[in-house]
Amino acid sequence: GGELVQAVHRLMRHADSRAALKVRANADNPADSARARRFGAQGIGLCRTEHMFLGDRRQLVEKLILAEGEEERTAALDALEPLQREDFEGIFEAMDGQPVTIRLIDPPLHEFLPDLTELSVRVALAGAGADPQDRRLLEAVQRLHEENPMLGLRGVRLGLTIPGLFAMQVRAIAEAAARRRRDGGDPRPEIMIPLVGAVQELEAIRDEAQGVLAQVARSTGVDVPALIGTMIELPRAALTAGQIAEAAEFFSFGTNDLTQTTWGFSRDDVEAAFFSRYLEAGIFGVSPFETLDREGVGRLIRIAAEEGRATRPDLKLGICGEHGGDPESVHFCHEVGLDYVSCSPFRIPVARLEAGRAAIAST
Ligand code: PEP
Ligand code: MG
Repeated sequence: GGELVQAVHRLMRHADSRAALKVRANADNPADSARARRFGAQGIGLCRTEHMFLGDRRQLVEKLILAEGEEERTAALDALEPLQREDFEGIFEAMDGQPVTIRLIDPPLHEFLPDLTELSVRVALAGAGADPQDRRLLEAVQRLHEENPMLGLRGVRLGLTIPGLFAMQVRAIAEAAARRRRDGGDPRPEIMIPLVGAVQELEAIRDEAQGVLAQVARSTGVDVPALIGTMIELPRAALTAGQIAEAAEFFSFGTNDLTQTTWGFSRDDVEAAFFSRYLEAGIFGVSPFETLDREGVGRLIRIAAEEGRATRPDLKLGICGEHGGDPESVHFCHEVGLDYVSCSPFRIPVARLEAGRAAIAST
């Protein structure tokens, strides 16, 4: 047992010493972060903050989304902020000295709203006796209802639509980092904006975030630098990467959404809908959601990497879709010259080995 473990460790260290790509983890709580570190992660490439808003906190998000005035909105944000600060402190502690890319909230909106059908039925059945609160709620939910939530009010669009939401998260990140630093820690936050399609969206959020960072630096007396960057997960973002890089210090390719939007395949329905038949019939050998499609999605990534770096030579590039842990896709990421791949903690050893093999194969 012991000898085999030693041999595996030697092999992994050898792979790391040759690799050009760093390997980070997708993790959004301290336990997963610590696990990722044990597997050899060199940072967190994707912390999905919407996972922090489930359970009891879902109510607070619903209140925020449905808030009718400034006062209700501020109350919901004030309740969320200390919870977020604790979330981030725990992750910074687990990842001390390593970069932590925190993605601002990106849920499809319907995950945080009451179910429209259920609510409609309740109001209809109650007739004239329906609870006025339920009626108001139904109106609000109808107003926000979308036929295609995955193409709707998500990511940066949510941040630009709900005043104060992203600022609350950025403040919680900056204050958590300042506390860790005061306690002798070495937090390295990176703030990531999801689902950007145009540089104007990113500029608006970046300006707001920079304002909050400066404010927290003044009020705490601790200035922890934080990179601000974006995900590239829409074809338009890839094709206008030269402009987007003016406002981003890093790009992270969200290849789950980029595959969905490039092919027009719904990532949630594709297998059930028809793709298993494609595979059975041998039309494709593998799903583009598993192994990165070099000709289509890969071409967009190459364009974005090249044009982004033409604007900003030190632009940091990573990938954080599921492909970040797929061996063949890791080779592609090496060829394109990305700085890191980010994947689930349990796929990290494979990604480290492949990163090493890709470097050796290209010499
Ligand atoms: C992606 O789209 O590839 C991504 C990493 O974000 P999510 O899966 O959370 O949409
Ligand atoms: Mg995405």
